[in-house]
Amino acid sequence: MEKYEAHEVQVLEISRENGKWKARVSPSPLYPDGKGGQLGDRGEINGISIQKVIEEKGDVYLVLPDKIETGRAVLHIDLERRRDIAQQHTAQHILSAAFVKVADVDTVSFRMGERNSTIDLDVPYLTSETLHAALELTNRVIRSCVDVDILMVSPAEIEDYGLRRKVDSALMRTEKIRLVRVGDFDIQACGGFHVKNTGEIGMVSIVKTEKVKKTLTRVYFLAGVRLERYHRSLQETVERLMRILTCSAEELEGRIEALQKDVKNFRTRLNKLADEHARLLAAGGGFKKIHGDISLVVWEGDEYVARFLPKYLKKFVIVVKVDGGFMFASDVVSCRKLCELVKNRFPGSRGGAGETHGQMQCTANIDEFLEIVEEVVVSEGTAT
Ligand SMILES: [Zn+2]
Repeated sequence: MEKYEAHEVQVLEISRENGKWKARVSPSPLYPDGKGGQLGDRGEINGISIQKVIEEKGDVYLVLPDKIETGRAVLHIDLERRRDIAQQHTAQHILSAAFVKVADVDTVSFRMGERNSTIDLDVPYLTSETLHAALELTNRVIRSCVDVDILMVSPAEIEDYGLRRKVDSALMRTEKIRLVRVGDFDIQACGGFHVKNTGEIGMVSIVKTEKVKKTLTRVYFLAGVRLERYHRSLQETVERLMRILTCSAEELEGRIEALQKDVKNFRTRLNKLADEHARLLAAGGGFKKIHGDISLVVWEGDEYVARFLPKYLKKFVIVVKVDGGFMFASDVVSCRKLCELVKNRFPGSRGGAGETHGQMQCTANIDEFLEIVEEVVVSEGTAT
């Protein structure tokens, strides 16, 4: 299969915009981005990659990373991308028609993205039965290898074809309207790329649905080579999980649930132990006193224990050294003020604090941090 298709074009003008180059070309063999919800063509012009194709008032502009000279140029269209677009786009026609046939649900819009494509269906909710039935019908049509034809008909003849969607009024004023017919399964007006036979699509899968704009259901789907890649990556993920958890694919769910249960149990036990540890520490006393009777606890042990210390102390400032910064708590000074002061003294510090506790990343060492703590205690601590 050919990878590129070469065309000779004229570069009529070149301008600089947002750090990129914008070249006006004619005649343009490229499909512009966003037209009819479809992705635009890509490729190269004189060896420079085309990053976007914009159609403005009948003119076509290419967005390029490098400058190109005006005059004659050779443009190569990326045909693999066109085949991908054709697979997604034809899949959309069949999927939209399938939703009409199985549940009388219309598609109100279609959007093709670089990763996946979506259709918005005119219902707020879809049952999994409807989804499966539409998908099953779509894939049956694909497997049946139905021819996809392009017909050019005049607006006067449109009525005879029984299109799935009404043709918009602007199109009705043109001389000929392009129709895309998938055997006797579906027919609608469309100007984008399509496969010649549904067999080329391979298969379609719905990967996600969500409610949008309160009344619509957005269906994310993949077709053809994209679906093949998606399946491969899912399979690799499952295989990695099977290796990590040393079990079969069927056992994965049970294994993960058991692990989640274990984590929950251990967390409960850890909390109890940390609480008990904090209680014993507080009961033992012997903390450094600053500014009278305020206990300054510089805790170097597990931060879990530190979280329970405030429960058993009165008139305290707790400072815990954590990776790249500090956690702190107090019932006598404002932790918010402490945080602000550290940020002023050590620009680039990040983090936040409420009145009673906080956490921040900063470059201050423990002595510098404690110095600021003492300052805040002296200026504030007297009020308590
Ligand atoms: Zn189409």
